[in-house]
Amino acid sequence: MTSTETSTRPDQRTGVAAILDTVEAHLPHVAPDLAARSREALAAARTAEAPCPVFRDCEAVGPHHDHYLHGRPSVGLEVIDGNGDNVESLLDAGFGAFSSDDPAERGPVIYLRTWEATSQAQLVAKVDEIRRLLDATVALGARVFADGDRA
Ligand SMILES: [Zn+2]
Repeated sequence: MTSTETSTRPDQRTGVAAILDTVEAHLPHVAPDLAARSREALAAARTAEAPCPVFRDCEAVGPHHDHYLHGRPSVGLEVIDGNGDNVESLLDAGFGAFSSDDPAERGPVIYLRTWEATSQAQLVAKVDEIRRLLDATVALGARVFADGDRA
């Protein structure tokens, strides 16, 4: 990310837009020269907050070349364990699509931790594999905890 790029979490974008709307609503009540300068600043701020025109799930805003969304509990793409300073991500998912002169490196990838899919078919196959693992883990738990109750 270059210094001209900005990033704002999607849930913060709504708050910033609301603040800009509030400022704009008060402009008729201020001196004309201040209102004119404020309108210019608001236009620049709205451009800086513009959502990504390429990927609807991109969390980068304003002018940018690298697109991404990183898993967080707030977007349902991260499972964490612990609290305070001991929070650890058990599983996270997200996407990246980075600018590159090499066309082979420009395609988007969906990641699950360190594994990456470059196509929907690859992603679906891996998610099916993970579902089987989770189902088997729940079945294992049912047996182990039931047996533990007999101990
Ligand atoms: Zn983007």
